[in-house]
This record gives sequence, C-alpha cells and structure tokens, in this order.
Amino acid sequence: MMTEEFSANELEEARKLFAGPCDFMLGVAGLGQLPSADMSEIAFAGRSNVGKSSLVNALTNRNTLAKTSHTPGRTQQLNFFNLGDRIYMVDMPGYGYAKVSKEKRDDWTQLIFDYLRGRPTLRCVFILIDSRHGFKDSDIELMKMLDETAVQYRIILTKTDKIKTQQLEKVTADIIKTLKTHAAGYPDVLATSAHKDQGLKEFRAVIASYAV
Ligand code: GDP
Repeated sequence: MMTEEFSANELEEARKLFAGPCDFMLGVAGLGQLPSADMSEIAFAGRSNVGKSSLVNALTNRNTLAKTSHTPGRTQQLNFFNLGDRIYMVDMPGYGYAKVSKEKRDDWTQLIFDYLRGRPTLRCVFILIDSRHGFKDSDIELMKMLDETAVQYRIILTKTDKIKTQQLEKVTADIIKTLKTHAAGYPDVLATSAHKDQGLKEFRAVIASYAV
C-alpha cells in the first residue's frame, strides 16, 4: 500500500532496533511530568479498540508492553516507551468511546492539544484506523488538531486480516482522498495486521526512519 520502499538494509536496521531494549518509562497525565525532550519521538493514536495495544506489542515482539483492553474512563495518560535510547514511542490514550462523559472527553482534548503544541521533538503521530470502518468523526477531529499544531501524521490501517483485498483498496482510496484536504497528513496509508504479521516490517522501518 505504501509506495515508499525500504531497502533490505533499512528493514534489517529496523528489525534490530525493535529486537533490542524497549522499556516503559512513565505515564504522563499532565504536561509538567513530560520527560525532557532530548530524543526524537513518535506517538500512536486511535479510537478505543482500534488494535493499538496489539500493534505496539506486535511491533516490539512483546505480549504485555502496551496493556490491552483498558477500562475506558480510567485515568488518561500518555505512556512513554524508550526504544533503545534512539526514540521515544508514546502510546496516547484511546478516544471515541461512546460512554465517556463530556468532561473526560474535554480532558483528553486538552491533554493532547497541549502535548502536540508543546513537544518540539514529536516527529510524527501514527493514527490507527480500523480497516473495516475507515475514518470516524473523532479521527477527523484529531487530524484537525494535528493540522493546526503542524505535527505530521500518518494513517495506519489495522486488522486488515479481517477484510478482503477489494475492501482494503476502497478504504485506502477513501482515506487518501480525505488526506488531500488535510495539511499535515502524509498522503499514503500503511496496511497492517498485528495478528497476521502484515505490514509490521514496513511499520518498523517507518518508525526507525525517525530514530536518531
Ligand atoms: P486498543 O483498545 O486499541 O488497544 O485495542 P486492542 O489491541 O486491545 O484490540 C482490540 C480488539 O481487536 C481485541 O479483541 C484484539 O484481539 C483485536 N485485534 C487487534 N489487532 C488485531 C488484528 O490485527 N487482527 C484481528 N483480527 N483482530 C485484532
């Protein structure tokens, strides 16, 4: 799906990076607690249940690094991981859960907006989209925040093992069309499946391209 091609060498470097240490550092609920901005940083975002924890765990070949099935509504925080002292990976709290109160939603928006605006080392936000559903309003709201704060983002499709090639082509085309109207969005899509190990090598290489 992604037209960008990686050399065998780049794929191997990325494999090595992800096979090395990846440690949970801290959870941040307010911006005063952010670790010092001394390394490149990327972040994962997506609606609750999009498959974010599964994907982070599959990328790092660990079963329990990112916790699956979080209870919606519990304290929302940015979880920081240090990948080999080369890059911070930030697991952003899931959004779009229908039963969350307006107050909680507002807290999420404030935390994320402040983070996006105040983090010069943040190189890219990966917005995970369930390949069966495509964009939802809450995804578009996040993209608008990213456009406004001029933080680059890329769309990553999840659970592509659940759909047929033709559906994948359609959702990809729809997303690329929408991306054309967004300033900070990378104009292509990467298709992944955490369960079937699809697109993971390429996703690791994309992340490694931001590492120092
Ligand atoms: P999160 O809330 O975004 O962290 O989502 P989870 O990683 O907890 O996954 C939500 C649900 O989707 C779980 O039931 C997972 O087993 C399922 N899931 C996650 N990734 C995949 C995938 O690649 N393929 C399939 N078929 N299901 C997946």
